[in-house]
Amino acid sequence: MTVRLFALTCGHLDLDMAAMIEDGTGRERVPVPTFLIEHPRGRVLYDTGMHPVLQTDPAERLGAARAARFGFDYQVGEEVSGRLESMGRDPAGIDHVVTSHLHFDHSGGNGLIPNAELIIQRPEWEAGMNPEVATQFGLDPRDLELGHPVRQVDGEHDIFGDGRVVCIPTPGHTPGHQSLRVRLDGGEIVLAGDACYFCRTLRERKLPARVYDRAAMHASLERLAELERGGARIFFGHDPEFWRTVPQAPAEIAF
Ligand SMILES: [Zn+2]
Repeated sequence: MTVRLFALTCGHLDLDMAAMIEDGTGRERVPVPTFLIEHPRGRVLYDTGMHPVLQTDPAERLGAARAARFGFDYQVGEEVSGRLESMGRDPAGIDHVVTSHLHFDHSGGNGLIPNAELIIQRPEWEAGMNPEVATQFGLDPRDLELGHPVRQVDGEHDIFGDGRVVCIPTPGHTPGHQSLRVRLDGGEIVLAGDACYFCRTLRERKLPARVYDRAAMHASLERLAELERGGARIFFGHDPEFWRTVPQAPAEIAF
């Protein structure tokens, strides 16, 4: 039985590095990654990238003030459904979307994947549904209200029951952030999402300027470090240097 993993880059963001990591300066262009996992019993996406309206009018969706903080390099065809189609996969054939968290560059493409079950940690769902918390931490509940069946999970969730594709809670960046462990034939890869933006975040334990819970984020980084010590490879959330080393779909990622 084989599990296959593919990386899909769904546009880029230009952003202020001081917000991304302690001691950061200047601006940097970072990738917006999503991942396709093919298991014999179903297809899984880890995150869906940005809403397609951000290709033309980010302020329409994010509001002018928020949109102005980012530069958007997001072209037609780079949305998650376009990326899937260009590798010969039908967006309607995706069975599960694992939502790392409810930020616009992670769950914004949910509407492009019509038939999937959304898998989200319960604290993230609850925070998204609490208008005060959602506004304060930039969570967008609209991405949960598109008619998908939503599976709220508490803690680890083994999607196929065989240990090959397992959601693990990595809170701190947001209340219910989750990462995804993917066991390939050669070894395990952990898709960290925004629990760890950069390689340096893990090595130097330097956090972004604004997070939901710093202590929880440190604990999540320690969890990732522990998985790495156990032999797993960590895939960072928005690391341009690291991303250059990742084969892009339709090429398959080997361990
Ligand atoms: Zn992000």
